[in-house]
Amino acid sequence: MHDVIIIGAGPAGLSAALWCDELGLETLLLEQGAEIGGQLLSVYNPIGNYLGVEASNGRELRDIFARQVADREFDMWTEVEVETVDLRARRVALRSGEQLQAIAVIIATGVRRRRLGVPGEAELAGRGVVESATRDRELLAGRDVCVVGGGDAAAENALILAEVCPTVTLVHRGESLRARREFVERLRGEHCITVFKEARLERIIGESEVEGVEISRAGALKPFQMAVQGVLIRIGVEPNTELFRGQINADERGYIVVNGEQETSVENVFAVGDVSNPLAPTISGACGAGATAAKVIAARLNSAKA
Ligand SMILES: Cc1cc2nc3c(=O)[nH]c(=O)nc-3n(C[C@H](O)[C@H](O)[C@H](O)COP(=O)(O)OP(=O)(O)OC[C@H]3O[C@@H](n4cnc5c(N)ncnc54)[C@H](O)[C@@H]3O)c2cc1C
Repeated sequence: MHDVIIIGAGPAGLSAALWCDELGLETLLLEQGAEIGGQLLSVYNPIGNYLGVEASNGRELRDIFARQVADREFDMWTEVEVETVDLRARRVALRSGEQLQAIAVIIATGVRRRRLGVPGEAELAGRGVVESATRDRELLAGRDVCVVGGGDAAAENALILAEVCPTVTLVHRGESLRARREFVERLRGEHCITVFKEARLERIIGESEVEGVEISRAGALKPFQMAVQGVLIRIGVEPNTELFRGQINADERGYIVVNGEQETSVENVFAVGDVSNPLAPTISGACGAGATAAKVIAARLNSAKA
């Protein structure tokens, strides 16, 4: 029996683990990936909005976090496959057959990028279907590209690619872009960017590399094909909450509902970071929520012992 099991080693889970250790709680941190850090591993821009640290990218900040927790007493297992979680019993079963139990569970599983689920998306990943304009800018330079999405991330990526690509086609299913005004105005000013509203990417075409896309537009009878050599999809994120579905209160998109102490609808089960923060996900918020959950758990355990 552990005092605390934390699922997910992004900023929220790492902060929770650091604080649990600081407060003398016997803690096990479980991470499905080979590396800790969560989304930080896919931030290629400088991070200057996390107070106290300026990092040239997410990995650099992750390395600072990793150094800070390296000498701590808590156990951390990576490449762990959690098979089931019984939240009421606070029991975690691993694919390896191991059964774990804790007095409190902290869910810190974060979010993942939404996929379109169209033919070619998975097959051509890394072969023209790219993840980040910043990271893949040089790779896409000189190519015609298609960006899918209508929010800030899609607009920002389209603008970055417009610096190096002859044409950028932004495909958005809504009637108007959701991106902030500044981005929308800059998109209008870029002659190489074409915006297709009320349009859908139906298929990514190509054998070994991206060669084109098939797009359908509202009011058009048939989809049309367009030659592009790069595709970037930025249509938002979704929470990693499948393991907990049906056991816990969540909103219509699956984000876990918590109170001011980060506690969920199940007693002694907490949720921290992006998985319970659809409105304002940040590294600072994730770290703060991890600290809050740890302090609440420690206070409860101490008052139970007294
Ligand atoms: C491109 C980009 C740029 C960003 N820029 C900024 C910025 O400038 N400033 C800022 O404040 N924020 C930024 N963010 C957001 C920030 O990265 C997140 O708010 C933060 O990482 C959330 O931390 P988290 O721990 O809640 O979740 P995550 O970082 O998503 O970590 C969750 C972890 O849980 C693990 N996990 C999931 N399911 C399981 C499971 N079943 N079992 C075990 N482990 C599991 C995942 O593998 C992952 O390691 C950016 C994000 C992106 C993608």
